[in-house]
Amino acid sequence: EAFNARVAAAQALNAFIVTTPEAALDAARKVDADRAAGNALGKLAGVPIGMKDLFATKGVQTTAASHMLEGFTPQYESTVSQKLWDAGAGMLGKLNLDQFAMGSSNETSYFGNVISPWRRNDGSTAAMAPGGSSGGSSAAIAARLCPAATGTDTGGSIRQPAAFTGISGIKPTYGRCSRWGIVAFASSLDQAGPMARDVRDCAIMLEAMAGFDPKDSTSLDMAVPNWEASLNADMKGKKVGIPREYRVDGLDADVAKSWDDGIAWLKDAGAEIVEISLPHTKYALPAYYIIAPAEASSNLARYDGVRYGLRDLPDGANLQEMYAATRAAGFGAEVKRRILIGTYVLSAGFYDAYYTQAQKVRALIARDFELAFQHCDVILAPTAPTAAFGLGEKTADPLAMYLNDVFAVPASLAGLPAMSVPAGLNREGLPLGLQIVGRPFDEQGVLNAGLAIE
Ligand code: GLN
Repeated sequence: EAFNARVAAAQALNAFIVTTPEAALDAARKVDADRAAGNALGKLAGVPIGMKDLFATKGVQTTAASHMLEGFTPQYESTVSQKLWDAGAGMLGKLNLDQFAMGSSNETSYFGNVISPWRRNDGSTAAMAPGGSSGGSSAAIAARLCPAATGTDTGGSIRQPAAFTGISGIKPTYGRCSRWGIVAFASSLDQAGPMARDVRDCAIMLEAMAGFDPKDSTSLDMAVPNWEASLNADMKGKKVGIPREYRVDGLDADVAKSWDDGIAWLKDAGAEIVEISLPHTKYALPAYYIIAPAEASSNLARYDGVRYGLRDLPDGANLQEMYAATRAAGFGAEVKRRILIGTYVLSAGFYDAYYTQAQKVRALIARDFELAFQHCDVILAPTAPTAAFGLGEKTADPLAMYLNDVFAVPASLAGLPAMSVPAGLNREGLPLGLQIVGRPFDEQGVLNAGLAIE
């Protein structure tokens, strides 16, 4: 009830697209019933959480923050959300996001901007971006509307919004969490993960969300470790790699300082610090912005006005015209930009020059990490090159927006577990995040280093 009341009182943040107060209360009532019946309680028994509106929820509108899916009510539940309900969690509502998870500020949502609860400390009232695409999740947790939420991360969408709002979030190894029932953006990159106030809560959430699912062909058939029980902030015997290439010219001074702070904290926790090289880093962003749109253009072909959501059928229109009218009306500008880029790089004349080339670069980036992990156990870097920016500051310049993902996309291309944890405030009083990247399947190492920083 307390969380439902906070959600209702904070509508101005626009963090939720729909609220489901009864679902949250049902989970609480189930705890009482289970207790009375002497049944064992799940690890998340009665915990009210927010669900990013990219996860299909049976009987509850699922929009991906698009006009295309406005009013679409799935007949099925995503695997990850079902696992959370099975662990006892209850849904407070569906959280706002960038449309089809494309964006870094939550400003591409059809349902309007999410407003971060943070403000600059100079007395200005300018509304700050909560990051994206999981901006509803980050703002809701930062404003304490929910203790935890789901996110998805294709190229940073868990980590960057976590950094912008002073919370924690982990993208596990690709394949840990089933993609079944999550609206697809770029299938070879999409990965669900938790966002929460701290590392321990992320570990608890991730245990509930992860696990093999035969309905997702890329799902990892591996046991889910008990990450929470094995949390350990002692870094003795661990090597932390500092990638030289991330110290880019013009790196924001406050971001550089928080990175140095993080290095010092991990040293204090017993870690040995080693410099490493990830030589292909500078090609990661261009490769990502070819591969992700290519996959998106293919995935979004299903929104044709026939199978899901919106249908725009002008008088006398034939089938082709219905497709065109529906897609023109249903997709926002950023989604159209991605589809156009994607179809272009996949077209017969340009496929080799762009898509094939980007896939080769992707392999080199994955190999960079593989070689680096011969010299270290985890890698420490900033999550984003800047703290949160103001709403509207970057909307006119898509390239400036894309550049905000520069430190996040390499781990995505390599499929590695990566986490953002809060690491102090900048001079404007805005939160900064530090990113820990780990070896494949080593979520434990990532969480432990996160705990040492936190
Ligand atoms: N900001 C990146 C993009 O717009 C990442 C999005 C994501 O991870 N879903 O593609």
